[in-house]
Formats: sequence, C-alpha cells, structure tokens
Amino acid sequence: MDTNKNILQDTFGRNHTYLRISLTELCNLRCTYCMPAEGIQLSPKSHIMSYDEVYEIAKTFVDNGVTKIRLTGGEPLVRRDIDVILKKLASLPVELSMTSNAVIIDRFIEILKSCNIKNINVSLDSLNAEKFKTITRRNDFDKVYGNIMLLIKEGFNVKLNAVLIKGFNDNEIIDFIGLTKELPISVRFIEFMPFDGNKWDKAKMVSYAKIMEIVHSNFNEKQVIRIQDAPNDTSKNYTIKDYKGSFAIISSVTNPFCDSCNRIRLTANGRLKNCLFSSSESDLLTPLREGKSIEPLIQKAIQTKFKVRGGMDTLEKLEKPDLHNQNRSMITIGG
Ligand code: SAM
Ligand code: SF4
Repeated sequence: MDTNKNILQDTFGRNHTYLRISLTELCNLRCTYCMPAEGIQLSPKSHIMSYDEVYEIAKTFVDNGVTKIRLTGGEPLVRRDIDVILKKLASLPVELSMTSNAVIIDRFIEILKSCNIKNINVSLDSLNAEKFKTITRRNDFDKVYGNIMLLIKEGFNVKLNAVLIKGFNDNEIIDFIGLTKELPISVRFIEFMPFDGNKWDKAKMVSYAKIMEIVHSNFNEKQVIRIQDAPNDTSKNYTIKDYKGSFAIISSVTNPFCDSCNRIRLTANGRLKNCLFSSSESDLLTPLREGKSIEPLIQKAIQTKFKVRGGMDTLEKLEKPDLHNQNRSMITIGG
C-alpha cells in the first residue's frame, strides 16, 4: 500500500472528508426502525471510547483531511461527559455538527453555541403526539417539539429528519412541508432502510418517487422548486414557492448517492465503518490503546470501500435479510 498518498481517498477517487462519530450506544428513545424491540447487546463500558480517545481518533482524521465531524449515537447528549467532548472537538479545525432527538437539548444550548455548533439535525417522525409515542415508545413529543422551536429561536440551522413508513406517517408529508411555510427549516424525508433487527420490509418503505407524487398532487408544478444540491449532498432538495424553509428526500434505498459519498463512520466502540451498509468494520480503538499508529488501518479500511452500498448494489441484494442482518442495528451505527 502506498503510504504517501491521501489515506482518505478510496479506489474510486472519493475523498472522505466527513466523519460521523457515534458517542454512545445508549438512547433515551426507542424508535422502532432503529432499536430492535428486544434491545441490543451493549458493548462493555470499557470498550467504549473515552473522551480522550474520541479526541485522539478525531484528530488523526482531521490531520489527514477531514473537514466535517457530525456527532451522533444513540443519543449523543445522554453521554455524561458530552460537555468535555464538545469542548475538545471544538478545538480542532473542523466544522462540528450534531444529530439529536432533542429530548434534552434545551440543557445544552449555551455549550453548543460556545463550541460553534450551528447545524443540528433533529429526528421527528410525526407531528402527532400519539404516533410519536408509538414510534419512539416514549411520551416526549411536547418536549421535542418545544425544543425544536427553541433551537430555531436560538438561531441554529435546524433540519428535521423524518423516516417515512407506509401506512403510518406517509399521510403527514404535506403537514411536514406545511411547517416550512413559516419556519426556516429543512424537513428531510428519509427512506426507511434495512438494519439488523428493524423488521425492514420493502413494502413499508415510501420511495422518493411516491413522495414526489404526493407533493405534486398537493402543489402545482410552478410551486415546487428544485434547489441546487450542494456537493456531496445525500438529499434531493426542494422548496415550495414563497415558503421560508425547504424539504428534501434522502433516498438511500431507491436512488443511492454513493458516487459522491464522502462519509465514514466511527462507532462508539471505536470501529471504523467505511459505509453505512457495510457489515465489515476496522477496530481503531484497540491499536490506539496499544500505542500503535491507526493511520495504516484507516487507509486499509478506505481502500476496501465498495462502490455502492457496502456491495449491495441492487435493490434485490438489499432485500436479502442475510446480507443486511450481518450489519449492526442503526442505534449502534448512528445514521
Ligand atoms: N438519536 C439521534 C437521532 O435520533 O437523531 C441520533 C442517532 S439516529 C440513529 C440518526 C438518524 O438515523 C435519525 O435521523 C434516524 O431517524 C435515522 N435512522 C435510524 N434508523 C433508520 C432506518 N432504519 N432507516 C432510515 N433512517 C434511520
Ligand atoms: Fe434513539 Fe435516534 Fe435511534 Fe430514535 S433514531 S432510537 S432517538 S438513536
């Protein structure tokens, strides 16, 4: 292996400058599409990265060209040392952002601001409190909705992530878009994806094409405006004429965006995943603890990245449970 070259570039020329770090396998919600009903086998506490280890690994990536880090989980804010992690990572020359369920985010407004975190993605799958309870198995709709409003008021750029499930919340697409009339947010509809234990079924998925059909049956052609995607964007972005916000579709299942992928993921127990759908992982934490260089391992992991969706290049392959059941549950990847 050529050790001089950019270790974050894969064999297809994709440059991986965006690292998503999962800080914990724990969560204060239990979303059915993310957390298996029977729970998950948690890693022993001693196998979870300490804040110093999160920083050391993140710094190695930043030294090699990572420019964006998103913190995720589980729920990143349930980590007791989240303040320390945020402050340490904020000292790196990198754009820091977070994905959260927002249940307790009101306690962290000042620290988020002081760490220059501007972009927060919040999961919200329903605007109906009962449905929220059904999907998250917790009764926290009011807290989450209130905290979304608080984040907007405090000047954060907020994106709402809604995983659409047929027959459950696909009748709320227009209500979600309605939020963007007065609120400067982006609502992102995410195609339901298969992960270990989440009972994925293609029939439950609401496709990009179906979402746009619903949009076009409610708004006329001139009202629906396609927005130019940013480089490496995973979403197709739209706005409704004269609305303050926008909406987007993340179609990893029916329309993958792997060609421009710049993402890599670090799990809370220090494993590098070169693709959300990949079942293989590279342990960076053990060698780090042994005082070894992790750069050759990062390079090897990037070099073995498949061109499309961890090798599941067709919808038929994605539909085979034995392929995606070898992957982790989403709760331990981080999205
Ligand atoms: N707890 C935080 C939250 O919910 O925003 C961060 C972690 S969560 C795993 C990150 C994102 O993954 C969320 O937006 C969630 O909706 C999404 N997600 C989880 N399981 C999914 C699935 N099966 N298909 C599509 N998106 C999923
Ligand atoms: Fe928790 Fe986020 Fe998964 Fe829901 S989607 S169970 S909030 S990690």
